[in-house]
Amino acid sequence: MIDLHTHSTCSDGTDTPFALVKKALAAGVTTLGITDHDSTAGWSEAITAIQPQIQLVLGAEISCLTTDGVSVHMLGLLFDGEHKEMQQMLEDSRDTRIPRMRKMIELLRADGIDISIEDVNRVAPTGSTLGRPHLADALVAKGIVASRDEAFLDLLHNESKYYVSHAAPTPVEAISVIRRAGGVAVIAHPFASRRGEILVPESFTDLLAAGLNGIEVHHRDQNAQEQKVLTDIARGLNLVVTGSSDYHGTGKLNSMAENTTHPAQWEMLESAANARRVITV
Ligand code: AMP
Ligand code: ZN
Ligand code: FE
Ligand code: FE
Repeated sequence: MIDLHTHSTCSDGTDTPFALVKKALAAGVTTLGITDHDSTAGWSEAITAIQPQIQLVLGAEISCLTTDGVSVHMLGLLFDGEHKEMQQMLEDSRDTRIPRMRKMIELLRADGIDISIEDVNRVAPTGSTLGRPHLADALVAKGIVASRDEAFLDLLHNESKYYVSHAAPTPVEAISVIRRAGGVAVIAHPFASRRGEILVPESFTDLLAAGLNGIEVHHRDQNAQEQKVLTDIARGLNLVVTGSSDYHGTGKLNSMAENTTHPAQWEMLESAANARRVITV
């Protein structure tokens, strides 16, 4: 079973990288992608947890913004973790997430919602990519909302008046850097309309020209109709089709390997990296 998109405590997941690999093993996953938001911090710990039954695909989910301001997530897999330009891009995103968090808190406070940066720092694991889920956790801890989901629905969604963006590359820039770093680029849940504005189908042509390798089609935030349209786009552009859980531990309802990638599709994807970087024992 191949699950190429999961999160650990190095971003907004609730399992440590070690526990994430162990849970994947228990769930029968044979190829696991670890893709924390804008970070490769979990890679080394995840490697210490592998066993002969499971191989690791190291990666990151890069938060992008189109020139029209649409939020897009790009999965970079199998890239060289030492690549300077790649690490700089990830660091820029993480760095601007701190002032961005302060801004969101300021806006919430101005409306009488009693939350502080200290509350957020208390719930965000050390070294994690700071994000809205941590702000949600802080709001839950203070009894302001009941769950992460409720926090997003009421206060933190993309169209909320409390939403502030952080510095982010465009999808084309992210794809270019991933490919220059030797990896492969798969656009994550491109039609996840529940979260806000989505890409128009025409934009896939530009992404293909930039070096896009695949489309995450099978994902719980895309309905059957959306998955069908994406499958057709992938076929038309000769792009790999992936499916994945986007597992976040208890941070989201997604369960490990609830969606998976077909082995033939994975083989095609893996062969497009500039070196064999899958980690085995
Ligand atoms: P940020 O990167 O700080 O803008 O936060 C975006 C992240 O929040 C996404 O990548 C998801 O992992 C997470 N997220 C979005 N909607 C929800 C939700 N309803 N419940 C929990 N997490 C969510
Ligand atoms: Zn996340
Ligand atoms: Fe995502
Ligand atoms: Fe994700």
